[in-house]
Amino acid sequence: MTLAPDEAARTNEELFGRAQRVIPGGVNSPVRAFTSVGGTPYFVARASGARVWDVEGTEYLDLVQSYGAIIAGHAHPTVVEAVQEAALSGTSYGAPTEREVLLAEEICRRVPSCDKVRMVSSGTEATMSAIRLARGFTGRDLVVKFAGNYHGHGDALLADSGSGVAMIDALHHGGVVGRPGSAGVPATAVAETVVVPYNEVPRLDERVACVIVEPVAANMGLIAPVEGFLSGLRAECDRIGALLVFDEVITGFRVAFGGAQAHYGVSPDLSCFGKVIGGGLNVGAFGGRAEIMDLLAPLGPVYQAGTLSGNPLATAAGLATLSLLDESVYPELTKRAGAFADRLQGVMEDAGLTVHCATVGPLVGLYFGDHAPVDFADARRTDEAAYAAFFHAMLDQGVALAPGPYEIMFPGLAHTDDVLGAIVDAAGHAARSVRIG
Ligand code: PMP
Repeated sequence: MTLAPDEAARTNEELFGRAQRVIPGGVNSPVRAFTSVGGTPYFVARASGARVWDVEGTEYLDLVQSYGAIIAGHAHPTVVEAVQEAALSGTSYGAPTEREVLLAEEICRRVPSCDKVRMVSSGTEATMSAIRLARGFTGRDLVVKFAGNYHGHGDALLADSGSGVAMIDALHHGGVVGRPGSAGVPATAVAETVVVPYNEVPRLDERVACVIVEPVAANMGLIAPVEGFLSGLRAECDRIGALLVFDEVITGFRVAFGGAQAHYGVSPDLSCFGKVIGGGLNVGAFGGRAEIMDLLAPLGPVYQAGTLSGNPLATAAGLATLSLLDESVYPELTKRAGAFADRLQGVMEDAGLTVHCATVGPLVGLYFGDHAPVDFADARRTDEAAYAAFFHAMLDQGVALAPGPYEIMFPGLAHTDDVLGAIVDAAGHAARSVRIG
């Protein structure tokens, strides 16, 4: 018996068929199923730098980059060598290792608001644990989140993200707040979650344990915080004694050396990380001031644990990735992404499409509409059908975007001016075919 890939079965169609028989929807994370854009997902066989190849040998210039887990480009030799070397010494021990210390030291060095950090295995775990810690620290229960912000799939954070203003009122008038965003989440799990509109500072009261926010919203397209939003949250949390939690799972070590908090000059009490710090392996982390972090077990009463937390391969990949990201990298990445977004906007407009290409640092968003959205209600006005058509036209041109209109693009170190130029050219062709089609 062999469990190796079966050469004979290697078409996307055939693999997707087999996948659907044994994996719900054929995928291990829903957006990968192409549900919102239609069609058959490409099954990746290998990747290098800015490129991925599917099992049929089709090559794509890739802007998905594992939804931001990859910043140095696929299979970067430094990362691959670090993982290979680590694997030769064992893949998990259940005892502490030196690399965990090194990675924690490096994160705390880059992010001054973190005296201490704890590693977990995903962004979901990071936000879930940060919320538990914030509740443990404050002795309060309410969590405030923003409509359209995604913090992974922990029950308490999967609250309805649609009814903003009403939710602010609910907070003030003592009403029940969130509604589950998924079947299987009991109303009680989100009864202590208040959902409010992004880019407005909510008025809090003493029941609030923490406000959790994506400092740059990157799960409803790309929406930057308006002037005064993050600093306003900081002031409002301080006024009421609530903790401010930045979910930097996407922005951490990506928008700036010290993440979004450095970029905007606002310090949270707790930060959540993931993606970049795992270099494509399974990593999350959360960190903050020592007086808060020391409430975690084994020092304190807030329980949190993980068999694979601080895994040797993941910490090796993370350290190798951070070694490639010195301070000089960020202005360069930002400059390239800015020029790319301008040119992308230009070719789309030339083709008669109305889009708004936003950037924050090296993050790039593509909104099918004529203005920059500021919150989820705005974001949802994007033309989803136009995105789906453009997505497929881009695949036809050999460029892989994320298969969903609320995802963003992740150009990284491998996306040289040449690569980005080729993507712009492809976008020009794709945009014309969308318009004509
Ligand atoms: N927070 C943010 C801002 C995210 O974008 C994501 C995932 N895209 C998560 C948390 C959850 O991370 P994970 O998928 O690793 O659980």
